[in-house]
Amino acid sequence: MAIKMKKSVSFLLILAILLTSALCGCQNEYKDPTASIKTTKSSDKYRNYYEIFVNSFADSNDDGIGDLNGITQKLDYLNDGNPETESDLGIDGIWLTPIMPSPSYHKYDVENYFSIDERFGTLDDFDKLVKECHKRGIKLVIDMVLNHSSNTHPFFESACKDILLKKKLNSDAKYYEIAKYKDNPGDNYTEIGNGYYYESNFSPHMPEWNLSQKKTRDYFEEIASFWLKEHDVDGFRLDATKYYSNKHTDGAEFLKWFYSMAQKIKSDVYMVGENWTGNAEIQEMYKTGIDSFFSFGFADASGGFVNAVRMQNQQNLIKSLQKFERKTHDNNKNAINCYFLSNHDQKRSANFNKSVGLSGTKMAAALYMLAPGNSFIYYGEEIGMTQDATKDADEYKRAPMIWDSENLPQISVNEKDVTAESEAPYGGVEQQKDDENSLLGFYKRVIKIKNQNPEISRGTITEEIALGDQNLCGYYVEYKGKRLAIIHNLSKDKEKTVKKDLPKTLRADLVASNGADENGNTVINHPSYDGSELKLPPLSTVVLGDE
Ligand code: CA
Ligand code: CA
Repeated sequence: MAIKMKKSVSFLLILAILLTSALCGCQNEYKDPTASIKTTKSSDKYRNYYEIFVNSFADSNDDGIGDLNGITQKLDYLNDGNPETESDLGIDGIWLTPIMPSPSYHKYDVENYFSIDERFGTLDDFDKLVKECHKRGIKLVIDMVLNHSSNTHPFFESACKDILLKKKLNSDAKYYEIAKYKDNPGDNYTEIGNGYYYESNFSPHMPEWNLSQKKTRDYFEEIASFWLKEHDVDGFRLDATKYYSNKHTDGAEFLKWFYSMAQKIKSDVYMVGENWTGNAEIQEMYKTGIDSFFSFGFADASGGFVNAVRMQNQQNLIKSLQKFERKTHDNNKNAINCYFLSNHDQKRSANFNKSVGLSGTKMAAALYMLAPGNSFIYYGEEIGMTQDATKDADEYKRAPMIWDSENLPQISVNEKDVTAESEAPYGGVEQQKDDENSLLGFYKRVIKIKNQNPEISRGTITEEIALGDQNLCGYYVEYKGKRLAIIHNLSKDKEKTVKKDLPKTLRADLVASNGADENGNTVINHPSYDGSELKLPPLSTVVLGDE
């Protein structure tokens, strides 16, 4: 038996050597342009962010719920702190969904703003996570839910108690949008009793703060100071900013106040708002001065990035991005637009990319991540996790991260076992991590290219490049006098040749489509460029620079 094994091992070895030399034979002209470019760590607010739904990422104590120590244990996967290594994803920003004590599994209804939910860990665990993030150059941004609290928040409970027992508003009631009305003021209100109602746009469990009260703002200042100063977080993702405004409060004025107050605590604080609206409202919100808003108009199944891949045609995507960028920068010259495919409230992007397959899924990543601004990867997106398409409940959008598809996680989401409804059609992290042609390998390369070419994130789109071919999509980005051309071939089956006066140096190439030779072996056709003729294989991208 042992001898037989040895024989087959040596046979495989010879086969591997033969295959490798055959592959090298057809690839000997390829020189990876990224090999000679230095990767630098970001020291500003431009980052490659990664959204972690805390319940579902990694469980360190096997109680079936993801936790902070689980995240700390997985940091080397996200970024090992060494820009030279390529085993890690390379992200340098993390957004954690809410971590404060809350009765729900998602914790978007906060009960206590000054602690960590015991299911996720302790403040000591949190401090350790922050320290480990900072050691690796990762900025940590936490979800801050300021539109509403939980109805179990002590201020709200105290207010309700006095309304029910004494039929009057006590000083805690001032924190909330509570008032006496003759009739129910509307669907977004919930009755307490004795004619008193509170605003509750999301659910009766989520009473809304009165954001124009000094009392509330003083309380929020304490919260901001607690996290920014005492626990060294780098910023906040602000939940539901669209609902800040009502008849008492100008939401934009509140945001402006909150940002400038927080800047006094930490001058380089980063804030990104969730204003789930169209482009026009988001552009307007940039007048508040906060750094970023998520660009919902470009995300999701109907968004420009995914559509461009599906149609193999950018369909005015570059012009829309350019217009959006110009308007956001007019309203805030430091605006950093945030592009993403989906988040914890939306169907998983691999679901809506199913029709374009693995190569199309890679292409969508190249398109959105190479757009100027900050990109936000939703955990699991980088391995192509899907959810049961027939199930719309939020839990299915938040399924446990698939670290190893042959050893599925034992994490429950809102006490539901949703692991079986989620799949990693391209394998889990374990299955993809050593394969540079995997989806995970592709994400790593996109991030590496962004870190090698800071102009991509920081620049503005100065010009769409007219390439005279509907499958081609090209634009210039410029930052501090340096210019890059980014060109994508969106055709899934046609190689394209471009002869045009373009920057002369090939700084990066990305190949989303793997070909195969007649024996079925993977063949990667790389773009080629001699300074005058550019050849782009199907579903590929180049970054060209003047040096
Ligand atoms: Ca746990
Ligand atoms: Ca690294």
